[in-house]
Amino acid sequence: MSEKLKPCPFCGVTPDVDYELGEQNWKKWFVKCHTKYCPVDKTDWSVNKQIAIDTWNTRHKEERG
Ligand SMILES: [Zn+2]
Repeated sequence: MSEKLKPCPFCGVTPDVDYELGEQNWKKWFVKCHTKYCPVDKTDWSVNKQIAIDTWNTRHKEERG
């Protein structure tokens, strides 16, 4: 299992993995770029940190074509 995040396709920095607490204290994991005004949206939230990372990495690959 890899937790390595691909860099932001717009600004090149490594994004942050973060979570919010949802109902019943479920962790809602997402990945977002922390650069101010960067146009990249955070990922949809996932119940699992690794899924959030995979979502970011997959989306990044798709955006590169
Ligand atoms: Zn960015």
